[in-house]
Amino acid sequence: MGILERQISATGSANMAKTSLGEIYRPILRGYFLVYALYYVIMLGLNWLTMEYGRSFFALQSATGVAFVFALLGAWRMRKPEKDVATELLLLGMNLLVVCNVWVALYIGFLPEKLTYFIITSMLFALASTTFRQSLASISVSLIALVSFLDRLDGATLSAFGFLAFGAAISSLAIAFYLRKAISRIAHANNQAREELSDAQELSAEMREQSLSDSLTKLPNRRAFFGILREVVRTALETTLNADEVQAEPLDEKPRDQTWLVLLDLDGFKAVNDVHGHKTGDLLLIAIADRLRAFAQTGAHVSRMGGDEFNMIVTGIASETELRERCTALLRELAQPYILEGRQVRVSCSAGCVRFDPAQPSDAQISNADYALMVAKKQGKNQTVLFDEEHEHAAKVRLEIETALRGANLADELSVVFQPQVRLGDNEVVGAEVLARWTSPAVGTIPPDQFIKIAEESGLVTNITLVVVEKALRELQGWDQKLPLSINLSAHDLMSDPAVEQIIALVEAYGISSSLIEFEVTETAMMADVQKATANLMRLSDAGYSIALDDFGSGYSNFSYLRSLPITRLKVDRSFIEDPSDPMAERVLSSLVGMARVLGVNCLLEGVEDEISLLMAKRAGAELVQGYLFSQPMSATDLRRALAGHSPLIEQREAG
Ligand code: C2E
Ligand code: CA
Ligand code: CA
Repeated sequence: MGILERQISATGSANMAKTSLGEIYRPILRGYFLVYALYYVIMLGLNWLTMEYGRSFFALQSATGVAFVFALLGAWRMRKPEKDVATELLLLGMNLLVVCNVWVALYIGFLPEKLTYFIITSMLFALASTTFRQSLASISVSLIALVSFLDRLDGATLSAFGFLAFGAAISSLAIAFYLRKAISRIAHANNQAREELSDAQELSAEMREQSLSDSLTKLPNRRAFFGILREVVRTALETTLNADEVQAEPLDEKPRDQTWLVLLDLDGFKAVNDVHGHKTGDLLLIAIADRLRAFAQTGAHVSRMGGDEFNMIVTGIASETELRERCTALLRELAQPYILEGRQVRVSCSAGCVRFDPAQPSDAQISNADYALMVAKKQGKNQTVLFDEEHEHAAKVRLEIETALRGANLADELSVVFQPQVRLGDNEVVGAEVLARWTSPAVGTIPPDQFIKIAEESGLVTNITLVVVEKALRELQGWDQKLPLSINLSAHDLMSDPAVEQIIALVEAYGISSSLIEFEVTETAMMADVQKATANLMRLSDAGYSIALDDFGSGYSNFSYLRSLPITRLKVDRSFIEDPSDPMAERVLSSLVGMARVLGVNCLLEGVEDEISLLMAKRAGAELVQGYLFSQPMSATDLRRALAGHSPLIEQREAG
């Protein structure tokens, strides 16, 4: 039984037996038999002391003895539940023996007042019998015994006993009838309550099962995953405690005692949904869950965490190499094509792993595995990455930066710099790119590509964008001669309607014409959700903003969608002029510039650092450039001085 099944069955319904009348009577009957046993043992002694030996003595002692033994037997049987019929028979036997004893005693020494014994026993039988028919039989026998002595009575006593016997019979039967009716009602109500309880327990077990499993793939869900993890920790800690008792493994064999946490995330699942539709996406997830289930049979717990994320707890691993081999095999298996509704679908998967230490906090280890997964994605996906010391250091730094970012007063700590964009024909500065700078009192100055990425990943980037936009607008507002500004938007901004609305509102609030602002977006940012990105770019374009495609050529380079986007500029990535000795780079550069021309948009070359790269840019036919050769990113004051003609760098360029 797996951990999950155990979790479920722990609260599952208990199999409950119905309560019978006999079961309710059992403690009473046990007392009933015990009292008789006690009574008859006393009687045995008394008879012994008071009677003379003879036929009468032996007759009475035999009857008493048998009754005593039977009473003991009854008490013994009543210690456990009996079948209702058996209880009825035992009781009937006891009652007959009681009547028999009274009859023998009266037969030996008759006294009229002793006839009341039969009336008392009738009452007793009425109270103690479990069924009406049994009490009817017992009471009848008792009254018949009484009647057998009536010929010994004179007329007056006879009529007195006649009435008494009649009254006793009626009232005993009435007691027997109503008592049983009341008790069976209680038993019925009790049974009903138990049935309802059992139904409720079954239902709650079912609901619990549902709440622990993912409705689409039927794999354990996120909640179940944490339950399983807790169980793994508990078992591991117990095993450590009992380690002394465990037999040592042979020296030449590595103990298979490692547990690994493996986080899986599909690569390109979104594209499957977009291209084939959500139904196929769901079928794919089910098919993937089946392959994962097959893998889990070799010693792993697999859960679906939501979306296209699956977590595994892999146990019984001997070494890092073994884990890596198993994950690689799994990823290979997952990357095999799927046939869904007659169509072939392919998807791959990335894995981030961490060796699980039950003594360490689980969430920290999960985020380490998550970090390894992120590295796997960054390194090109469809691969396994094991969290190591280097990652640990990087993750620590990352966490520090993220924490500092969360607590940062962005309005104070962020600043903006401007990098001029130059037209090659006349070396005119036609615009400037706004670039963010962050100096944190906690972690110092962090390069923008680093903190922007972390802000993206932790959902904080829009706060940064808004501060950057506002600071840039404030500068621009103060300039007599307005220079068009290019502002970077991140993927997160582009995917968020409210962010886009806020940015537009901000520009309007500063009373700045949208024609002075260009937004730069990267292909990678677009790819997260092309439809959404396109819609928001349209929104910006309709409001009069220019759109530049940043780092062009460095990303997916799936140019097919370019036509449908409202782009006004391609910013060719600087990697194309980084190596002037590479003849291929120059050719690619030329074709990228040509593509911009075909699309009817202007083209800017980034990273022009020296004369050679400037020459390359000119040869390729670029119209606009940006780079250290013209200017480093600079403060607003420096930019205005440069524009006023006091900047040595720009002057030099203009002269040249
Ligand atoms: P990017 O958008 O491609 O910005 C251009 C980067 O190239 C800037 O780095 C700039 O200083 C650098 N650069 C300019 N000319 C040259 C050159 O001739 N040679 C070389 N090697 N580099 C040059 P920076 O300022 O460090 O920014 C790095 C990245 O950080 C940016 O790349 C952009 O992706 C991101 N970033 C910066 N500010 C913001 C911002 O406000 N918002 C967003 N979303 N991202 C930003
Ligand atoms: Ca940029
Ligand atoms: Ca760029």
